[in-house]
Amino acid sequence: MSAYVTTNPTTGRTEHEYPGLRDDQIDDIAERSANGYETWRYASVAERAEALAATADLYEKRSTELAQAITTEMGKPTKQAAGEVQLAADIYRWYAEHGPELLVTETLDPQGAAESLVQTLPIGPLVGVMPWNYPYYQVARFVAPNLLVGNTIILKHASICAASSALMADALHDASVPEDVYINAYASAGQVAELLRHPAVRGVSLTGSEAAGAAVAEEAAKNLKKSVLELGGSDPFVLLDTDDMARTARIAARARISNAGQACNSPKRFIVVDDLFDDFVEGLVGEFDRAVVGDPTDPDTDVGPLSSVSARDTVVEQVATAVNQGATLHTGGAPVDGDGAFMRPAVLTGITPDMDAYAEEIFGPVAMVYRVQSADDAVALANDVAFGLSGSVWSTDIARAAEVADRLDVGMAYINEHGTTLPGLPFGGVKRSGYGRELGRWGMGEFVNTKLRRTA
Ligand code: NAP
Repeated sequence: MSAYVTTNPTTGRTEHEYPGLRDDQIDDIAERSANGYETWRYASVAERAEALAATADLYEKRSTELAQAITTEMGKPTKQAAGEVQLAADIYRWYAEHGPELLVTETLDPQGAAESLVQTLPIGPLVGVMPWNYPYYQVARFVAPNLLVGNTIILKHASICAASSALMADALHDASVPEDVYINAYASAGQVAELLRHPAVRGVSLTGSEAAGAAVAEEAAKNLKKSVLELGGSDPFVLLDTDDMARTARIAARARISNAGQACNSPKRFIVVDDLFDDFVEGLVGEFDRAVVGDPTDPDTDVGPLSSVSARDTVVEQVATAVNQGATLHTGGAPVDGDGAFMRPAVLTGITPDMDAYAEEIFGPVAMVYRVQSADDAVALANDVAFGLSGSVWSTDIARAAEVADRLDVGMAYINEHGTTLPGLPFGGVKRSGYGRELGRWGMGEFVNTKLRRTA
């Protein structure tokens, strides 16, 4: 039984310790979820939608408490934390309002003489394995569609997110989602595998690292359970031209340092055509140097701590390795003295394919800027990584940008913005960024029984 321990990354102090699940509780949890399913699947869609709408209301009502919990657990600046709570509320509300129409039974055009109907039905208990970087948002995008369709959830959150995951469970239960329909489990990796072996469990969705994704997908496959994986990214930001470099650099910098750079889909590789390169680097360095790094509860803070000292040290080490291998560091990259997990945002250039940084994801406030000669070179570089989550193209010529965006091997391509996530838009990647989609109607389609009923 491993405990869920939260160390505040701002202070280095242990905030709380929750006992982990015991191995002898696994069967009980799976069976409770299966029992919950037998009633929840037959509850009316309107009743399930009402529970989601009530969850959205409670998130908004409890926003301050919810936001504070993640600032303490993983260091997200309070303003960004409040924004995340609102986004999660918006997702619950979106599925409450739009989900029911996605579940309407479809009558197919005559296929022979018989009547053919296609229903969208639940499949049963699901396990959700979630990361700490957007503790509320990640859970909402998996939970909202699946509760609406009638599946039940066993949620294993990141072990540093024990308090926020308890607050989420409280909100759902207070919003009338039955206790057995949503179960918050402080499970270990081994216990997740055990749950996937249980016959009652029908699928798993994991958001996190490639290693965790591969382990969970392997166990799911061995047990013939469906999986959805939302994994890492090293998203390209392709700059072709701009009529306002200061603005472009400001947007780029904000996108990269938001959440201390710990977003799967933040732009990590800035691919800039030759004649704009120097100005862009200068603008980005200026923005990073002006960024306020510090106490996440201070409203003026731009960059809080990373999620832990070891996470910060990993990023600092990645920057140092890049420099040792020949890259140029223009600013930042060093830890900030003290007990917290702080570092100054860094800008790297001169990265070549033989360096580690070229291929890996840097999960912190580090921008890698590449110089290219043409749009074709930009596309080739953008696609020359194992990841394929999202990417953006920046230009005053929308048609040209669209042409380039269409050639990016990613699940989400943006023009003149980066990483917008809204409840009705699909979210997910290709290549080693995972498979499956969340949000919108696509998120509703992952764990369902698309069931034919034909009457002769
Ligand atoms: P992580 O170490 O993979 O953790 C994610 C979750 O998986 C946690 O709940 C973790 O539990 C659990 N876990 C780890 N190993 C496991 C295993 N073998 N079996 C079952 N569960 C396991 O990832 P992270 O460091 O928290 O998150 C960063 C990564 O997630 C980055 O690569 C980032 O890009 C990616 N990410 C992707 C998306 C997306 O939508 N594509 C969104 C956010 C983050 P413990 O906490 O108990 O270890």
